[in-house]
Amino acid sequence: MNLKDGDTIAAIASATGKAGIGVVRISGVAASEIATKITKTILQTRTAHYSRFVDEHNQVIDEGIAILYKAPASFTGEDVLELQAHGSPIVLDLILERVLQLGARLAQPGEFSQRAFLNHKYDLVQLEAIADLINSSSREAARGAQRALQGEMSHLFSQIAERIKTFRVRIEAELDFSDEDIDILSLPEFEKNLTDLIHDIEQLKKKAQHSLYLYEGIKVVIVGRVNVGKSSLLNRLTNRAEAIVNAQPGTTRDIVNSNIAVDGIPLTISDTAGLRETNDVIEQEGMRRTRNAVQASDLLLLLVDARDGICATARALLSQCKAKPTLIVANKIDLLKAPTENAAFDVQISAKTGAGIDLLKQQIKARITHGNFLDSERSVVFANRRHIEALHTVAQLLSEITKHPRCQSTQQLELVAENFRLAQQALADITGTYGNEELLSDIFSRFCIGK
Ligand code: GDP
Repeated sequence: MNLKDGDTIAAIASATGKAGIGVVRISGVAASEIATKITKTILQTRTAHYSRFVDEHNQVIDEGIAILYKAPASFTGEDVLELQAHGSPIVLDLILERVLQLGARLAQPGEFSQRAFLNHKYDLVQLEAIADLINSSSREAARGAQRALQGEMSHLFSQIAERIKTFRVRIEAELDFSDEDIDILSLPEFEKNLTDLIHDIEQLKKKAQHSLYLYEGIKVVIVGRVNVGKSSLLNRLTNRAEAIVNAQPGTTRDIVNSNIAVDGIPLTISDTAGLRETNDVIEQEGMRRTRNAVQASDLLLLLVDARDGICATARALLSQCKAKPTLIVANKIDLLKAPTENAAFDVQISAKTGAGIDLLKQQIKARITHGNFLDSERSVVFANRRHIEALHTVAQLLSEITKHPRCQSTQQLELVAENFRLAQQALADITGTYGNEELLSDIFSRFCIGK
């Protein structure tokens, strides 16, 4: 991806498919001229013009709204033209074709965002936040992404970067003036400040990790014996007939995932193959996947038949997953003459009638909140995996320094200085401060065309 491209780029910026309105976006030096040629009018900046869009024979392709933004007051920081036409894929294609004829070229994925970055309109964290906002699957995730877009996260990262810079300045000064052994931790306030910094980074990382749940969803896995009603429960929770419900044992051989939101908290609920000994190869594979899903889960719903209590298979599973937050859910209470008083059950339901389902949702939410997966205070921080990995690297580099505080030689002091430099670089990569080209291409290529 050429980062210093002066071309004018164009793409359909709205979603594919038919809609009331569709948008073709153009960015670059030729945008203004293209505007004049396609609308046959001189557009005023930042003004909505109701206009015809014409082809090379002056045939009207469509009518709509044209808006011209002059650099640098636009998303990309260049001249930008937005043509809002009727949302027909054919019409939008014809408009795009005409725009390309007039000198623009087709934008690559993420190229609009890339230009916004290069023109310092947004940093990387903010641009990723736009992608997160578009892809968000819950209101909370959307709000979090919006805050990141406003620059909240970038500010937190740059505060840490500043603190690291202060250390670097101190160390560089020592390197310039000292040729004796140095116990860097004996430098005034050095140890305390460094420990505080590592602590703050760890806290930020933890909070960021929590916010990932908002974006990626909390993994809830339903496990239990064959025919206990797992698929029926999934269907009940999602209000869909997604998993196959069958009176024949062993029907769910693959993992079925569904996304639901409980009070705005996104959950990915998985139905798994029933736990039982089997010689059926496909079912054995299903069981292997079940165990993997259990490993990767955040919360387990162990489903049992209210008439049987917790069976040996379920007990075995429970003992294997002691560390996992688990809810023991008794199903088929509609078949009981009277409610069971089994204290081992966290909640009693009937997937068939829907009884107890609201209570189950409340319990799921309570476990999630109790398990500190989420709470509104923590979710103030909103980061993605890339940011969390970078924070992890920074914390590791700084912790290494505290493990070898005594620098016997200038060479060792230089190694400490190098750790600080690398830590600062890792942080700069989060916001893209130093414009690491490989990193930028990698990130922007994951955006879609028109973004
Ligand atoms: P799975 O093998 O655990 O996924 O179980 P299914 O969801 O396929 O259900 C097995 C059988 O139990 C089906 O015939 C369901 O209709 C029935 N079933 C599931 N939940 C209930 C329930 O709450 N009450 C009653 N009476 N039957 C249920």
